[in-house]
Amino acid sequence: MPPDDLVEKAIWQLEVCNACRYCEGYCAVFPAMERRQRLTEPDVYYLANLCHDCRPCYYACMYAPPHEFAVNIPQTFSEVRRRTYSRYALPGGFTGLTGTNFRLLAMVAALSLLFFGAVVALTSDPAGIFSVHDGPGAFEEVIPYAAMFLPAVLMALYAVVAIVIGVVRFWGETRGPLRDLFDLRALVGAGADALTVRFMQGGEDNGCYYPGEGASKSRWLLHLLVFWGFIFAFIATSIAFVYQDILGTPAPYPILSLPVMFGSVGGIGMIVGATGLVYLKWRSDPAPSDQVSAAMDYSFLAVLDLAAITGMLLLGLRGTPAMGSLLIIHLAMVFALFVTAPYGKLAHFVYRYLALVQNRIEARQQP
Ligand code: SF4
Ligand code: SF4
Repeated sequence: MPPDDLVEKAIWQLEVCNACRYCEGYCAVFPAMERRQRLTEPDVYYLANLCHDCRPCYYACMYAPPHEFAVNIPQTFSEVRRRTYSRYALPGGFTGLTGTNFRLLAMVAALSLLFFGAVVALTSDPAGIFSVHDGPGAFEEVIPYAAMFLPAVLMALYAVVAIVIGVVRFWGETRGPLRDLFDLRALVGAGADALTVRFMQGGEDNGCYYPGEGASKSRWLLHLLVFWGFIFAFIATSIAFVYQDILGTPAPYPILSLPVMFGSVGGIGMIVGATGLVYLKWRSDPAPSDQVSAAMDYSFLAVLDLAAITGMLLLGLRGTPAMGSLLIIHLAMVFALFVTAPYGKLAHFVYRYLALVQNRIEARQQP
């Protein structure tokens, strides 16, 4: 019978896999497992983050429940990934927050709304929220620029520092010296794997087994839309920063300006991708899922979707009385994403990328 402890259970299941080896063509996880003579706890964290939860190994497995071995690699690895976020990224005092990600996100979003509401109340006429503001500087007539800029910079710095701590700790434990990370070939190769979400295509490039038993490319495509949508939105924000703080041109910008065009493409990508992923998850077979991880996914996708929807509404309704309240809600959602970034789903990209880098190095050294 499999042990109760999560890491011991994962090692026990992987030892069954190592004897069986039926799934070795499905993804990078099984070849990486076979390179190890004996599995350790850090190996489990590495392999779990290399797993993209595409699930053919669950549906193909003759030892999956109701077999007494109860091998369920996607579910076990989801639990391990969730533990990764608290084990590596968090300052010790925050350990455990990842398990309450939905409540954490809701609380941070509510506090952010209160914060920006208080800023408006203290710095301008609150009735101005519902007035029409038009032309350059319209946003600043609702919320002073410093009140938008400074908290955003502080939160971004905080998220970056917490994630960098996680990178150093994860790499140190699962791979070794930090200098090994500066392997250009592996960094570029893993970048290509990440940008194309290569290992979300399952065995024989058929796609993930979502929402049920049967391969489909829909999860891979929706994931690409969210990922690239996020990158485009980030580019739009960076260009807007240059316009505002270096060129001295305040927002909002014309429809055909670079920030608006990048932001619109990114926003639409995130809305379609996040909404589609929520639908796929809701329809998906719960048997290979970890329910707490699924709740984290829902909450992250909901806040990402809300941030993108309010951003697009802000663009469409910026010349109307709705602009002030939309701006406050949009800023609060973006804030909530940044504050919770190191503790939840947004962090998975960082650990997965590190696992992909390690996989590239290992595959080169031991093909
Ligand atoms: S998941 Fe099941 S079928 Fe696949 S390698 Fe492991 S034990 Fe074998
Ligand atoms: S869920 Fe997909 S990526 Fe994860 S171990 Fe199974 S086949 Fe590999």
